Amino acid sequence: MKPLAQPKVIIRHCESYDPQAIRAIVRDGLRALDLKPSGRTLVKPNLVAAGKLFPHAHVRAEFGEGVLHALKDVGGDAITELAVGERCGITIPTRAAFEQSGFEAMVRRVPGVKRYYFEEEQQVEIPYRHEGRLRDYVFTPAPIARADFFVNMPKFKAHPWTTVTFGCKNYIGIQDDRHRLIDHDHRLNEKIADLQYIIQPQFLVIDAITAGEGRMLTPKPFPLKLVIMGNNQIAFDAVCCAIIGVDPRTVDHIRIPSERGFGPIDLGQIELSGDVTLDEAKKRATGFEVGLVRVEKYFEGTAITAYAGAPPDAEKTDYCWGGCPGAIEEAVEILRVFDKECDARMKRMHIVFGAYRGPIDVKADEKVIFIGDCANWEGKLGDQLVQIKSVYKDRGTKDPHHAKGSDIYGKMVSVNRALRRSHKDPYVRLEGCPVSVAEQILAVVKLGGTKNPYFEPAEAVGFNRAYLTWRIVTMFKRLFGKKYQKAGPCLRGHAMPALGASDEPKALPPPP
Ligand code: SF4
Repeated sequence: MKPLAQPKVIIRHCESYDPQAIRAIVRDGLRALDLKPSGRTLVKPNLVAAGKLFPHAHVRAEFGEGVLHALKDVGGDAITELAVGERCGITIPTRAAFEQSGFEAMVRRVPGVKRYYFEEEQQVEIPYRHEGRLRDYVFTPAPIARADFFVNMPKFKAHPWTTVTFGCKNYIGIQDDRHRLIDHDHRLNEKIADLQYIIQPQFLVIDAITAGEGRMLTPKPFPLKLVIMGNNQIAFDAVCCAIIGVDPRTVDHIRIPSERGFGPIDLGQIELSGDVTLDEAKKRATGFEVGLVRVEKYFEGTAITAYAGAPPDAEKTDYCWGGCPGAIEEAVEILRVFDKECDARMKRMHIVFGAYRGPIDVKADEKVIFIGDCANWEGKLGDQLVQIKSVYKDRGTKDPHHAKGSDIYGKMVSVNRALRRSHKDPYVRLEGCPVSVAEQILAVVKLGGTKNPYFEPAEAVGFNRAYLTWRIVTMFKRLFGKKYQKAGPCLRGHAMPALGASDEPKALPPPP
């Protein structure tokens, strides 16, 4: 195991999304950090969602282009494979996110660069052995497990569930949907901390030219005009936090890996350089909002009244920051971006999470949605006595080997079924832990009478093409795919405090 290098972070000014300017900045950064990409070099951008609705959610293609060229400039022949890999979010096929973000066309422009849509790749088992882990093993796509030189390329954004999304949080996209949604609940920050054992990036570079404020899928653009680079994920995130005035000790997915020895969050232990000082960067970020708002407050003054009780493990937290309540906020933000009349159009409804113990003030034609396996409540809705029992299953019962995914069409069927079953009742129950953003959009659209973004004609053709290609490719891989080869030495060679990899990773085939 290699010792951790001196953590260094470089803050550079970048006026615009000019790929050549970005290339020069990143090339300088790699050299200043004394890094030379070699072997299988994999770049993981944040492409969580793209297209008309999500212009500021993802790393810009021009940024990726500059980074890829810079890696080639510095790595040269030492690079045996240069690839970009990602699993985007909200049940969209990653092919669609590549297309809509401009990454598909960009990657074709840069000679010799491969693409990995992670949900179409074999999934490799990585055992964990560290203290305090949520589970004993997880799965990650094979290209991640075998990368020799890993480049983490996040987007500088706020996040309504985890405060911020920089380097560590970008790891949610190194799992396919089946595995990503396991532990994506009130322990989300711990899940992200555990994911750090899969791989550590040798190089980080964040798109902070136009940062994303307030939200993660539909953030407000916030011009920072910065490219930030580093060689240690925790130090890097700590500096990004410092820029927007957030104490990294309050962000558990950064604090926990730091306490486990992945890197320092104390700025005194981080070597800072670049043509923008930390004070100047802070000045540029003045007023940047992170958007960590509880759901009750978030919906005040709207057609939705939200009620949040404690999730399981109430002794640890009284609110599920990583699961269903955050998902409804993102869902409604998407509907608002899609339809400016969304709030005016929306029928009144009540949404309940967790073990809520108070009254629900419902009028005759208003519906109550109990969201999530852990929802439980007892009381009267009109004349009807209603008892909602928790069906939450302990995480110990969820085996990643048997994790099942559900695509958007599967989710439409299950949400419609739940709504049909309860159309005569004053309430509806949506089960899942978590209930995803996609499912919550579908439910709110049906009950609230708002427009459905999944039926947007401008996006539907590209979406369905990507969906069908994904299905066909994964079917062929299942039928004719090669067995996974033993992971490369990266699994044992990266600088990290306590690696949890086995000698012989096991592989899961792509999802059916
Ligand atoms: S069901 Fe939803 S609210 Fe409850 S613990 Fe799971 S993710 Fe959190």
